Amino acid sequence: MQKSDLDPTMQQIVLRVQQCVKIANVYFKQVFDMPQIKFNQRGKIAGSARLQSNELRFNQVLMRDNIDTFLSDVVPHELCHLLAFRLYGRVRPHGKEWQALMREVFERKPETYHLMDVTKVSGQKFTYLCKCGPIQLSIRRHNKVVRKVQQYRCLKCGTQLVAA
Ligand SMILES: [Zn+2]
Ligand SMILES: [Zn+2]
Repeated sequence: MQKSDLDPTMQQIVLRVQQCVKIANVYFKQVFDMPQIKFNQRGKIAGSARLQSNELRFNQVLMRDNIDTFLSDVVPHELCHLLAFRLYGRVRPHGKEWQALMREVFERKPETYHLMDVTKVSGQKFTYLCKCGPIQLSIRRHNKVVRKVQQYRCLKCGTQLVAA
């Protein structure tokens, strides 16, 4: 990826990955290859690590709304998967090796789940109505209503929800 293709948010991520690799180099007194960085992670996942190809993928939508969490936690989290693989081979994804890297090299809590707002990436919502007002149903629930497999009631007023 050419540097000119990267917008400022992406550049922040790339710089943070480089910085974290340097921290690991100093800690382990060895030189780790700089991972390939892609911004094509989809869905509700913040990022992922491809061990064989030494590649990190980040979710652009989540990244733009949660840049602080990405810089502080998501980048070290994903990089630790690559480091654990380089250092210890195939180990449990969030096992003791990965946890120790997070804690000791990057001084982060080894959280396996990132708390962030995923509404934008949670897929299409459908508006239904009851006496209280509009309620959003997920596409999965909406499809059940359309196929007449299931009906939903408002938890507050008990009215059966109808498509708006
Ligand atoms: Zn992970
Ligand atoms: Zn209601």
